[in-house]
Amino acid sequence: MPAVYKDAALLELVLSLIKPSILGKFSLIAYSNTKMNTPASSQTPNGGTHTHIVLFKYSSAISWQTLQSHFSSFMALRTRCLKPPVTGNPYMLSLRAGQNRSWESHDKGMTHGFVLEFASQEDLDYYLTEDPVHLEFSRRVGEQGLVEDSVVIDIKDGQLVLGPADMPQKPGTRQGQCHCGQIRFTAVLPLPQSSGATGHILCHCRTCRLLSGGPYTCNQIIAKEDLKTVEGSPSKYTYTGASGKPVDCYFCSHCTSHVYHEQAAMPGKIIVRTLLLQDSDGWGVDGEIFREGRLEWAGDLERSLPS
Ligand SMILES: [Zn+2]
Ligand SMILES: [Zn+2]
Repeated sequence: MPAVYKDAALLELVLSLIKPSILGKFSLIAYSNTKMNTPASSQTPNGGTHTHIVLFKYSSAISWQTLQSHFSSFMALRTRCLKPPVTGNPYMLSLRAGQNRSWESHDKGMTHGFVLEFASQEDLDYYLTEDPVHLEFSRRVGEQGLVEDSVVIDIKDGQLVLGPADMPQKPGTRQGQCHCGQIRFTAVLPLPQSSGATGHILCHCRTCRLLSGGPYTCNQIIAKEDLKTVEGSPSKYTYTGASGKPVDCYFCSHCTSHVYHEQAAMPGKIIVRTLLLQDSDGWGVDGEIFREGRLEWAGDLERSLPS
């Protein structure tokens, strides 16, 4: 059986096993099968390739010419994405794509499918978070408003049952814990830009001073789903924030460390206390909020302290 048919059959099998009710069967016509001439052994380290499956619902308002040019750029990623950038080699093993032609009415409006194959999770992570060619391509797609909705899943060939330890961590994931260690969590922080490291956002508001007992708190705002409690169960204290809406503060009821809080005024986001994260003592500062509340001496301790 030719590789392209075998892979498509596996894809359909996996999709139907994972979420049959949501995805249904998604048939792909081959737009291009440009598998690189790479030895089989280097394509399948650890026993299987990593496949990134993207289903897009393209906006019906997009012109045919715009779509054609977008598809050309998309398909060109296979050879334009290099690792390391500029002087490196293409690392995407294959890229296949096609328009949805399923008659089953389970496509959830998705109009096209793209199947990208990588030799390793590391290569896939590089493509998603660092590759400048792909990041620029994604930025343009966002700017042009081409995609109305999408579904993305990643599979590793043959791996049908994943335990928590098998789940790859989203790049930027950091471990954190409260003072006593009863609460342990992970948080995904914005990845450092090439020019600098991830930093704290200082909050000088009075509530932060009262809650922490210090001159300010160190924070980052992240997506709610990017914080996961892996051990223990934090207690909740709710107060009314400056917006008039409730703020839920989650803390360790044993040692009182404040782990994160969630504001009704910022749906889908949470504010994590960054100093509870591993190795964050060495981070710099990304910014300040409620600067007007800053204690006079907090800006320059060196000069404020008597010598
Ligand atoms: Zn604790
Ligand atoms: Zn504050």
